[in-house]
Amino acid sequence: LERTFSIIKPDATERNLTGAVNAVIEAAGLRIVAQKRIRMTRQQAETFYAVHKERPFFGELVDFMISAPVVVQVLEGENAIAKYREVMGATNPANAAEGTIRKQFAKSVGENSVHGSDAAETAAVEIAQFFSGNEIV
Ligand code: ATP
Ligand code: MG
Repeated sequence: LERTFSIIKPDATERNLTGAVNAVIEAAGLRIVAQKRIRMTRQQAETFYAVHKERPFFGELVDFMISAPVVVQVLEGENAIAKYREVMGATNPANAAEGTIRKQFAKSVGENSVHGSDAAETAAVEIAQFFSGNEIV
């Protein structure tokens, strides 16, 4: 079984959609093996999205990620990384497939409700940024 890192972003927690997002995750056969609601610090958000620091939307993205609590999660399942990317849908909800989380819930390309790791290496780094081994059960 593979693990991926997920964030339910501020636009979704603000609208009380944590359970609705989790229902889609679980219906897809992914198991939530760790989960906590946190207020991200600016430092945490900048580190998490460091790969995008030269992009024009970086400042806006960091401000958004710290604007309200988020729910950080570890999801486990067969091909969890690719499966969760599929369940999330395209980054821009306008391009997201029917039934995906972003199609159903995202407000815009920036406020797009969820994050999911894009590869095994990034999943491991992202999980380690927010969880210790004994929190994942
Ligand atoms: P994530 O990494 O959050 O799972 P993603 O992999 O689909 O999303 P990335 O290209 O990694 O997309 O972009 C990271 C995040 O930056 C997006 O989820 C979105 O919140 C924000 N973002 C991306 N492109 C734009 C844009 N053009 N304008 C505003 N925000 C953007
Ligand atoms: Mg990404």
